[in-house]
Amino acid sequence: MDELLREALGEIAATSTVAILKDVEVRWLGKKGRLTSLLKELGGLPPEERKARGQALNALKQAIEEAVDIRRGEVTRAEAEARAADERIDPTLPGTPVAAGRLHPLTRVVDEVEDVFERMGFHILDYPEAEREAFNFDHLNIPADHPARDTQDTFYLPDGNVLRTHTSPGQVRAMRELTPPFRAIFPGRVYRCEATDASHEHTFHQVEGLMIDRSVSIANMLSSMMTLLEGVFRRKVEVRLRPGFFPFVEPGFELDLRCMVCGGSGCPVCKRSGWVELLPCGLVNPNVIRAGGLDPAHWEGWAFGLGLSRLVMMRYGIDDIRWLMAGDLRFARQF
Ligand SMILES: [Zn+2]
Repeated sequence: MDELLREALGEIAATSTVAILKDVEVRWLGKKGRLTSLLKELGGLPPEERKARGQALNALKQAIEEAVDIRRGEVTRAEAEARAADERIDPTLPGTPVAAGRLHPLTRVVDEVEDVFERMGFHILDYPEAEREAFNFDHLNIPADHPARDTQDTFYLPDGNVLRTHTSPGQVRAMRELTPPFRAIFPGRVYRCEATDASHEHTFHQVEGLMIDRSVSIANMLSSMMTLLEGVFRRKVEVRLRPGFFPFVEPGFELDLRCMVCGGSGCPVCKRSGWVELLPCGLVNPNVIRAGGLDPAHWEGWAFGLGLSRLVMMRYGIDDIRWLMAGDLRFARQF
């Protein structure tokens, strides 16, 4: 008996995992285990020997069971500890950097402009960049012999359409689509076939704004412009209004903004003048109202075409328009 017990305890102590311990347990205590076979043999013994041997075997069985239980506790704990050590988080390890995306400064300013105008009750509309020549020019009171149509300024597409040279076609489209009175802005990308420099780019951004009502005023237009500019710059801005001729407005104005890059002392963005031409604006020409399908005897409007790229440059102090479309990540990461 002692021999058997020593053997069993030795095997149990040598186990290192719960699975191996289970094998040992089955080998000794299972249905076909060594101890079970010995217990089965009891029946063949003479009655006087049976009792003593039975007691001894049962004591042995109990001792093995206890040893298995204790060992199971030990290896279970050891396994759990090994697993924990394996999975432990080391907070001192350097992390994996997450590359955060950023909004392009143009996107940011467009969002701000849309926000300001939405609060003033404007619709925000989107119109095609490839535009019919009629919408880009004729309906805006720009006659066929106007120099703006020159191929040096306009990209003509093979199908006879043009890449819109301004966002103004939205004026006529909006008048045809919406029921007056209404107010709307149309932000978007425009194209000019011209040489590029610090303040000229072949692809740039504008926001067109239009308000149509029974009666509108220059004062109302100016106050909307000031709300916009102060909303974007978040401080007082200085503007001046000059008479300007644009075929689609009558009277027309040129709204200049005191250069926010140099503060008025002169820089490449303001061409050393201290002022930046920010937007043409004015009362909508009756011919354009007519092209929009409305009767100029009953409806008036004011409109503006804001140079969004210039506005972005003023807002962030960018001194070369070409950065905006350059796709240079070193530029984009600064915002
Ligand atoms: Zn300047």
